[in-house]
Formats: sequence, structure tokens, C-alpha cells
Amino acid sequence: MRILVQKFGGTSVANPERRAQVAAKVSEAVSQGYSPVVVVSAIGRSGDPYATDTFIKMVSSIYSEVPKREMDLLMSCGEIISGTVMVSTLQSLGLEAVLFTGGQAGIITNNSFGDAKIIRIEPQKILEQLEEGKVVVVTGFQGITEDGQITTLGRGGSDTTASAIGVALNAEAIDIYTDVEGIMTADPRIVEDAKILDVVTYNDICHLAHQGAKVIHPRAVEIAMQKNIPLRVKCTFTDAPGTLVTNMQPNVAEGSDAISDRIITGIAHTPNVTQIKVCINNEENKTQAVKKIFKGMALADISVDFISVQPENVLYTVRDELANKAVNILKNMGFELEALSSCAKVALVGGGIADVPGVMANMVEALAESSVEVLQSADSHTTIWVLVRKDQMVSAVQSLHKKFQLGK
Ligand code: ADP
Ligand code: MG
Repeated sequence: MRILVQKFGGTSVANPERRAQVAAKVSEAVSQGYSPVVVVSAIGRSGDPYATDTFIKMVSSIYSEVPKREMDLLMSCGEIISGTVMVSTLQSLGLEAVLFTGGQAGIITNNSFGDAKIIRIEPQKILEQLEEGKVVVVTGFQGITEDGQITTLGRGGSDTTASAIGVALNAEAIDIYTDVEGIMTADPRIVEDAKILDVVTYNDICHLAHQGAKVIHPRAVEIAMQKNIPLRVKCTFTDAPGTLVTNMQPNVAEGSDAISDRIITGIAHTPNVTQIKVCINNEENKTQAVKKIFKGMALADISVDFISVQPENVLYTVRDELANKAVNILKNMGFELEALSSCAKVALVGGGIADVPGVMANMVEALAESSVEVLQSADSHTTIWVLVRKDQMVSAVQSLHKKFQLGK
């Protein structure tokens, strides 16, 4: 059996016309000899009647504390509705189809409601249906615990479902269908001339996704990478070839050790973070103070990023919505601090960055030319990050995109 996983996001299933286009992609796969497993997200985006965010708002606007277990039950409904509609759409085209919830599909998770991790997949039931010639539709974004509790996998969870099923079934490929024609050098909503990347490595995309490129969830990339299953990001509404994600460096033949001549793969951004600057200059035992700060954050479940420990200050960022909580904890511990909210992280990602001198110089120059103030910076062998004010984020991304000539 040649198994193909096809995942369709919220905008792809938003209305009957679009669902017909989804069904055409599935039908095409069938006629090419594939046995498709179709993973669907909930219908539409926030505000649409059956979107997950709409369900969340509906209860949380009345009750401030909804139990996590029950919230997951509610959040799993969007994909069930979407999957039901998809089965009917496929059947209207004469394709026999069956819908499985995450649990019915054998996706076993831990019990971290709202952000559950997949422990394993028991794909037997999916295989049985595929062998009978049916298209199997699976609800994305959800699983089941060993003791039968419904869980959800967190934001972007449908991508994770698709990858995990693709790996469990040893699929020929995992196709992530969305509303853009592939993975681009930057978010096309910000950069008009962002270019589609034909081929990229799992590593580069993983970094871009971790840095905020919303087009695919990093966990989905990591899972596909484990078994080296080709991942393709394609558009539901066109026949464009899309982006192939593999472990090969672009333009490099197998067995060759030459690296790609591409230095920068793309730019990603994450808005809505707060920079916290804690003064440790007057602390007698600075190491102890640093430890206290990060212990305090960890105990309150606040994840920290962009950490820079300096002799006088400890700098780091937290998501805007956690800033007040973080500030209060630090004040209660007696620290002096400053907090700058509404910042954004901009990341330049590329496997070639480490080996090429002058990338940072060009980056600083581009930002200076467009009067973007750099609040903080950091780098690794694949990424250079800058922290800027959110109102300068778009200029920062656009000027870097231009400087490094990533456009069409
Ligand atoms: P879906 O509902 O199909 O999962 P998403 O909204 O999660 O769709 O992802 C697609 C969106 O990701 C695009 O509309 C685009 O605005 C955004 N995006 C952000 N960064 C990139 C990028 N580097 N390449 C392509 N799209 C990107
Ligand atoms: Mg998505």
C-alpha cells in the first residue's frame, strides 16, 4: 500500500467551495494509486462559528476558570465537526470515507491537557480501513490517554497529528496543505516579495518554525525527521509544487559534503514579548541571585527566552500575557527591575550563517538604515536573533529580507 498523509488546515476547509478543492486533492491522490489518510483542522479561524477559538471564547467569556480536562473535550469538537463534513464531502465525490477521532485513530498521549504529547500510535484500525479501500479522515489536534481521556495537542497540533500518523504508517510523504504555496523566506503577510523555498532541510524549517514561522509546527517537523519521511507544504487552492522538506541540503547530491550556497533560509518573527531587565549589581552573591530569578520563573511555569546574564543585569523575555505575573514574582523577591512590553523577536535563520563572516554586520546595517533600534541580540550557529519594539517589527523583517536579497 502506498500511504499518503494529507493534512488540511482551518482555512482549507472553511467553506463548501474550499472543501470541494480539498476533496479534489484527495481524489487526485487516490487516482495516483495512493491510500490517503486525511487529517483535518477545525473549520475556519477565530470568530467563525465552528472554530476552536470560538468555542474557547464562548465558555471563557462567562467563566474565568474552566477545568483543563473539560476544556480539552470542548476543543476536540471543532475537528470532529470538520471531519464529519469532510467525510460527507468525499462521499459526494464517490469516495468511500470513514472518520476517526484521535483516540479512534490510536493516537495515545500523556495527560497534559491542552498541550499533550503523543506517546505512541496504534495504527491498526487506520490500516484496516485503508486496506478496505476507504479514505480515512482523522481529526487533527487530539488524542486519548491510556485511561480514555480526550486530550488536545496544543497550537498547530494538527500538523503534529499528520506527522505522527505519517511516521507510524511509514507513509510515502506527509503533505501539509494550507493557504500559501509553500514555505517562504518570510511571512507573506508582512513581506510582499517573500519567495517560496523549493527545498529546505528539516533543520532549517525547524528553526524557522520555532522562531515563529507559523506555516508549520516545529514538532511536526521533528517527528517527520525522525523517520526521514518527506514533508511537503503545498497550497490547497493551486497546483504549485510547494516546498519539499528533507534532510538534504538544497543543491547537494547525496554523498557530497559540500554545503549549500544558501546562507540565509528565511526570517521569522514572534511578536508580543516583554523584555525584563533585573538589576543584580547590588547583590552580594550574584550567582545565587541569578539562580533565584530563574527558579522563581520555573516554579510559576513561566517560560523564559532570550536570556543574557551580565555582571550588572539579568535580561530575558517572557510572553506579554505572563509579564505581570513575572514582575510580581521578582518584586516579591526584592529585586529591582524594568519591564518593556510589546517587543518582538526577529530571527534570521540559515544553515550557512556560522561559516560566513559579515552576516551580523549586514544585519546591524540593515536595521540602522531603517531606524530600527536593537534592544538585545543573540546568536547560534544557525540563527541570529534581535529583539526590537513591536511597532518596528515589520520594518525590521522587511529591511533584513531586502538586505539579504531573499526576495523574488
Ligand atoms: P493552516 O490553517 O493551514 O494550518 P496557518 O495559518 O497555520 O494555516 O499557516 C499558514 C500561514 O502561515 C500563512 O497564511 C502565512 O501567513 C503564515 N506564515 C508565516 N510565516 C510563513 C512562512 N515563512 N512561509 C509561509 N507562510 C508563513
Ligand atoms: Mg497551522
